[in-house]
Amino acid sequence: MGRVYAILGDIHANIDALNVVLEDARSQGVTNFVSVGDVVGYNAAPAECIRIVRELNCPVIRGNHDHYVSYLDTSLADFHPAAAQVVEWTRSQLSAEELQWLHDLPLQKPIMGFMLVHSTLDMPDRWGYVFDNQQAKANFNYQRTPLCFHGHTHVPIIYSFSAGGVIHYEPCDFTIELGQKLFINVGSVGQPRDGDPRASYVIYDMDARQIRFRRLEYDVAAAQERCRAAGLPERCAERLGVGR
Ligand code: ZN
Repeated sequence: MGRVYAILGDIHANIDALNVVLEDARSQGVTNFVSVGDVVGYNAAPAECIRIVRELNCPVIRGNHDHYVSYLDTSLADFHPAAAQVVEWTRSQLSAEELQWLHDLPLQKPIMGFMLVHSTLDMPDRWGYVFDNQQAKANFNYQRTPLCFHGHTHVPIIYSFSAGGVIHYEPCDFTIELGQKLFINVGSVGQPRDGDPRASYVIYDMDARQIRFRRLEYDVAAAQERCRAAGLPERCAERLGVGR
């Protein structure tokens, strides 16, 4: 049987969103999971999300929040105070073993014919944001595979590279053409920022060469309540409601 991948990005400790996404993926015939990083940060269930992702026994790469939390020498002096608070709170919720697991995640990973990276392949440890065709072009200089999935901006989008340069498409379902080179942002499971609060992920059907963007409603109020109960900055709860 062919492989059908669910590509999960920027889960950000949002267990309410993650559970809905996993249920949907299984109902859609997904056989394999991969994650483009940021399992933790912003929301209130880091340990549960790490446990569930590890149970999927799937390839995961390190996002910037996974990095800040697990590289204990990261200086939080330059962080916005609210961001530093979330990093410190998240550290306090994880065991030494869980911190080590985050710490040891690779920055990029080749899977069957495609790549995973959190930010960009040109400088994966610099956490650059790809918001336009020009920034995507730098990535394509380092992309040797037809497909690379990424996250980081929490905004789903498709960048396509050809001799004519880089163009982009809004998220849509499509069949990959031979020779196409694509850099696909799968959006965020746990903290969407494109103005749509629904959880986002992508299904990649390898045999059918099909890409499908999924958006799912989940119990946003429950996730917000968890943030407030944990004493996280109010902004963390607020933004879940508006998808920003
Ligand atoms: Zn993120």
